[in-house]
Amino acid sequence: MSRIETLAARAGSSPDPSSGALSPPLQLATTFEHTPDAQLPHGFLYQRYDNPTQQETEQVLAALDGAARSLLFPTGMAAGAVALQALPAGSHVLLCDDSYFSFRVLARDWFPRWGLECSIVDFTDLDAVRAALRPQTALLWAETPSNPLLKVSDIAALAQIAHAGGARLLVDGTFAPPVLQRPLELGADIVMHSATKYLGGHGDVMGGVLAFREDGGHAAACHGLRVLGGATASPFAAWMILRGVRTLAARMDWHCRNALALARFLAGHPRVARVHYPGLDTHPQHAVAARQMRGFGGMLSFEAEGGREAALAVAGRMRLFTNATSLGSTESLVEHRASIEGPLSTTPGGLLRLSVGLEHADDLLADLEQALG
Ligand SMILES: *Cc1c(COP(=O)(O)O)cnc(C)c1O
Repeated sequence: MSRIETLAARAGSSPDPSSGALSPPLQLATTFEHTPDAQLPHGFLYQRYDNPTQQETEQVLAALDGAARSLLFPTGMAAGAVALQALPAGSHVLLCDDSYFSFRVLARDWFPRWGLECSIVDFTDLDAVRAALRPQTALLWAETPSNPLLKVSDIAALAQIAHAGGARLLVDGTFAPPVLQRPLELGADIVMHSATKYLGGHGDVMGGVLAFREDGGHAAACHGLRVLGGATASPFAAWMILRGVRTLAARMDWHCRNALALARFLAGHPRVARVHYPGLDTHPQHAVAARQMRGFGGMLSFEAEGGREAALAVAGRMRLFTNATSLGSTESLVEHRASIEGPLSTTPGGLLRLSVGLEHADDLLADLEQALG
């Protein structure tokens, strides 16, 4: 099998049989011809069920993650919500304490309506994870590296704990797309990605992915729920994601290099109290990260000396870094997460999250230097 860089660079580029085109066609049709008794000569019925552009993208995404099956969704949240809603009512979910903020809101406000119970646990403490398991625990929801504290949890160890307890492990791998981390190879059952971030890679398309190690009952339930709940990505979004994937490996290499340079600079700066980046050997889970990641990613956060007011002032002085949410695009962004996450936030007030883009590292360093003063 080709290496992952080759798979990514050739995504969708096998010549289209009808034209010889090396870029995949974008098929926008909502309906497909069938026989009078509803046989499907081409395998497609209706866009919401399955469609050629989505299918091509899903096959590429499955190959990247080493999955038996991948499903594409219109957003990362839709993918995550379907993975949760497909669990039997009465299931218990263990959610890592630094998961993407919206999943914690989902757990608080919507799990009760879906008949799900939830415990929030620090996944870097494996004894705490073991202790929180219940007979009804169906899913461990990890996010590594996590948003925004860049905590790293041990995927292989969590998979063992989950399986010993009769549960599955899902990893939100948004911060570390498949060229950096392949959780299914480490024993995870499902990988979730917000394709809005690095897979799309250019800040102009939304998407979500569930990649399954086995094409079993849970994957089938997620597919069924997607069809009936209507959470189908548009073919255009699928096509854009496929296009983004072609440059994924090259982009991630550059994101990682830039982020490491910035993390090292920040770690030595007197106005910075702490830097959170798994590529620094001072990161508490650096050894785990080095074992399970091929690169440490383009996301980092740091805490300004002086707390919230100091952090807001630094963010206000940045010129090249734009104050904006989201991540994984070519341009560098800064965000004061506590302001965005609202009253339930547990993010330190002095924390600024950086999505390190593809600009020249020296220009980014110069901006940080002048903003820190
Ligand atoms: C953005 C993000 C999501 C949600 O994805 P959307 O595409 O915005 O719905 C989930 N997890 C993480 C870690 C994210 O950064």
